[in-house]
Amino acid sequence: MTFIGHMAAGFLLGNALEVSGAPDIVIPVTTVVAALPDIDGLVYFAAKRKIAIEDDFAHHRWFTHKPVFWFGILILTGIARVISPSYMPLWLVWSYIVGIGSHLILDCIGTTDGIQWLWPFSKKWCIFWEVEASKGEWLRLYLEHPSAWVERIVIAVAVFAAILRIALL
Ligand SMILES: [Zn+2]
Repeated sequence: MTFIGHMAAGFLLGNALEVSGAPDIVIPVTTVVAALPDIDGLVYFAAKRKIAIEDDFAHHRWFTHKPVFWFGILILTGIARVISPSYMPLWLVWSYIVGIGSHLILDCIGTTDGIQWLWPFSKKWCIFWEVEASKGEWLRLYLEHPSAWVERIVIAVAVFAAILRIALL
């Protein structure tokens, strides 16, 4: 999934949290958190000084796509919540869990490599709907692959939800 689909999923999950009683700010926060693991792409583009995915773009191997890294931050978040509940409200913890969790789950769909959920204990990749391609041609082949419809549907539902929110203001 591209970062646009991740943000759309985060927007929908933020809306679900808001409906569950979280403050309105949970929607933009969850939208951004859901795209956070792909920040490695910005580092890659900055290092290359161009926005192009080439064969060395193996960003699912980087720490920002390792669940153990985000789990470690979740532990720190939980400790911060215990120490100071007012600075670490529960809605923010849930925003983090569903935002990062959705990103890692959706990165298992329509990918060339997926996610190593149990790394460093296991190097097995979780892939639900593989797109067989080199990294350099992944985006083009992904957009032609049936799995890209998962992202298109998520984006369409998010746009519909945004229009509904504006209409109900
Ligand atoms: Zn990702």
